[in-house]
Amino acid sequence: MSKSYRSQLVGCFGNPVDENPTGVMEEAAFREKGLDFRYLTVLVRKEDLGKAMDGVRAFNMRGVNLTIPHKVRVLQYLDDLSEAARITGAVNMVVNNDGKLWGENTDGKGFLISLQKEGIDVSGKRVVVLGAGGAARAISVECALAGAERITIINRNPQRGEELVSLINSKTKASAQFLPWVDGVDVPEKTDILANATSVGLFPNTDCKPDICYDTITDRMVVTDVIFNDPNSLFLGEAKARGAKTVNGLGMLVEQGALNFKLWTGVDAPVELMTEVLRKEFNL
Ligand code: NDP
Repeated sequence: MSKSYRSQLVGCFGNPVDENPTGVMEEAAFREKGLDFRYLTVLVRKEDLGKAMDGVRAFNMRGVNLTIPHKVRVLQYLDDLSEAARITGAVNMVVNNDGKLWGENTDGKGFLISLQKEGIDVSGKRVVVLGAGGAARAISVECALAGAERITIINRNPQRGEELVSLINSKTKASAQFLPWVDGVDVPEKTDILANATSVGLFPNTDCKPDICYDTITDRMVVTDVIFNDPNSLFLGEAKARGAKTVNGLGMLVEQGALNFKLWTGVDAPVELMTEVLRKEFNL
């Protein structure tokens, strides 16, 4: 076989993007598996997304991740979508198959895998999601597709919350309901899984936690947080103090990265190494 000096290119388009840690774990994984791939963290402004997606084709990039503010607007530049991406209307990763761009949303799948690895299956469960933004949409749609019995969305902005509920009710078999976020809102009785999918508690605001009634959390609930750079978020601390099993957002971040790795390279990702690399990066 003749030698190739050409690397396969992948990367992340976003703004802001400088502090996005994904490249560190993907590059470490490429090295570990001996793959000649390069991950580029690229500043792409909102108005330049179309040109940047033309660039994916022009440079024959293998794919990209999309982050703020591109996850929804990128859909117009794609040729095809996965089921989850079609339902949520948001894409966090693209695969370039010989010039045909396919969009997927691996955030929700990463969430499900991180729960499975803790022995938790969402099928038949009553799931409560705090938030209705990008992460909440990905998590709740994927839980619905995985057979959750009931999904309750609690969100500050009622219109956004209601929209997500009608999306789940119209496009999946799960039954969803909306609860308005009043101060100190109760976690509904009989909740199996409570997921914080708001940005409350995100670094540097680690002294904040969602304004819910923590005394309504019980020891039979599983409580999860999307926040990944603080495994001991105040939110999870309150849940742990009430005896709940807790799962932090690091697993979700690693697992979505591992799915992206597999979709781009066809090779199973070295998940443990990726976790270790991120732990080191976040000083955990
Ligand atoms: P969005 O901006 O799309 O959504 C933010 C959500 O948080 C909205 O529902 C918003 O409510 C809610 N919110 C913000 N402030 C408050 C508050 N003070 N009280 C109650 N609700 C509030 O962000 P994303 O969904 O993209 O990201 C959310 C979080 O998830 C971020 O911290 C992000 O880092 C994390 N994330 C983690 C991932 C992982 O792999 N672990 C993957 C993706 C995201 P409203 O609609 O009322 O404004």
